[in-house]
Amino acid sequence: SNSIVWFRRDLRAFDHAALHHALRDAVQNGGEVYCVFVFDTDILAGLPRNDRRVRFIHACLAELDAELRRLGGGLIVRHGAARDSLPRLAAELGAGTVYVNGDYEPDAIARDAAVASALALEGRRLLVFKDGVVFEKNEVLTLSKGLYSVFTPYKNAWLKRLASQPEAVAPWMIEPYAAALAPLLEASLPTLPELGFDDGPLPAPAGMSGATQLFEAFLPRLADYGTARDFPGLSATSQLSIHLRFGTTSVRHLVRTLQQMMALGAGGAGAPVWLSELIWREFYAMILFQHPHIAGRSFKPAFDAVEWEAGDTARELFAAWCEGRTGYPLVDAAMAQLNTTGFMHNRLRMVTASFLVKDLGIDWRWGERYFARQLNDYDMASNVGGWQWAASTGCDAQPWFRIFNPVTQSQKFDARGVFIRQYLPQLATLDARDIHAPWLVPADELEACGIVLRKDYPWPVVDHGEARQKTLERFAVVKAAR
Ligand code: FAD
Repeated sequence: SNSIVWFRRDLRAFDHAALHHALRDAVQNGGEVYCVFVFDTDILAGLPRNDRRVRFIHACLAELDAELRRLGGGLIVRHGAARDSLPRLAAELGAGTVYVNGDYEPDAIARDAAVASALALEGRRLLVFKDGVVFEKNEVLTLSKGLYSVFTPYKNAWLKRLASQPEAVAPWMIEPYAAALAPLLEASLPTLPELGFDDGPLPAPAGMSGATQLFEAFLPRLADYGTARDFPGLSATSQLSIHLRFGTTSVRHLVRTLQQMMALGAGGAGAPVWLSELIWREFYAMILFQHPHIAGRSFKPAFDAVEWEAGDTARELFAAWCEGRTGYPLVDAAMAQLNTTGFMHNRLRMVTASFLVKDLGIDWRWGERYFARQLNDYDMASNVGGWQWAASTGCDAQPWFRIFNPVTQSQKFDARGVFIRQYLPQLATLDARDIHAPWLVPADELEACGIVLRKDYPWPVVDHGEARQKTLERFAVVKAAR
């Protein structure tokens, strides 16, 4: 019979596990393969009309459809709840099997289970493949077959496993089996307004071509990645997170490219550091899959006892953080970057998350939800992982008594204020010494720079020294629980 490949966070037509298996099975057993994407109303319902990610996905789908057509097929696009659309479409197309690449988020797992049972009622099945990561679930285990909860030993075991199983990054070929793609006559991609969303600029170059463009631009910078990656004023990182999120690139392809470079002695000291970041992504995906409670609760239960600020003051402080008006320039510039572009540099995610939790005393889950709404690359596993790291509630997290100082972080990682000036032009006239803490600058000096504090830029919403003390007290319950 025919089959369906249901695309979700794997918007590409090369090195694609589900597509490969569907096509290969069809070549062997007969039947045609239909490629399908569903704009899932269960997900879209919660998003604003100007959501950047929906525009990005839309552009990726246009390219995916074109590429599938070049291969002889095309993309069927539907708008509805996936749990209804998929079973209906399978019946319409006479598809006995729906092939998908696995997703490790709790909601996606529940959705897939619902789709699988609806399909099963009619004698059809959902087949799930590993695609978005090199190693998943329980593929990387300790010697005693336990799960890792600390990154470095996990990474060493991950690397060891890859060395003994190099085929884990072999590409899933598409072209040799493309004849099994069902040819489509009409394009079915609705316009953004038809989907209830606005047209607008893309947050990043989209599609497989966008990912290729970013990766090629990054490779010459790879050698410096290890030393430059922490400085938001430099463009030292790959910006590939949105592409890894939506699967317009293949992580196997990225790892293979790194391996080839390293074998040739290229990529310098940066290559293993960048590979480590890709492994962090898999570590967090594994952690979320194995411990789904971390989506809403601390990884370490003792930390559930921490009491966060509540009430109007907390809500006001939270609003100031969201809107970048805390009075701490690096934090505010970072939030401005997030709010205007949907991206935030990794160092700044750490700084702003730490500031929310340890300077404002606010529940990390508020911040996690805010990032989820704003980040183009939002990925529950990495976001929850990053937030729980910063809040000290996670696995392998920053210890709770280590508290970033937002001023020294600024002096260290944006020493000349290049990043701050880019996002806070009202502070651009301050020199490199003053820009990190404008409230310490004498009024006449500020005046000479044309800045009036509280009018042009806020006074700090909290005093870091006092906030630090409060945080140590707040987290003392954890110490007491031991
Ligand atoms: P590069 O430095 O070029 O790294 C390459 C890739 O490795 C990234 O694209 C990403 O896929 C992966 N990666 C890098 N750092 C990490 C990390 N610390 N954890 C997991 N994967 C990593 N990343 C997301 O993709 N989605 C999120 O929702 C997300 N939320 C975060 C929240 C917090 C509080 C923190 C501290 C980090 C978060 N990260 C998240 C991780 C990281 O900040 C971003 O992946 C990175 O900034 C993306 O930029 P890049 O593609 O240029 O990264």
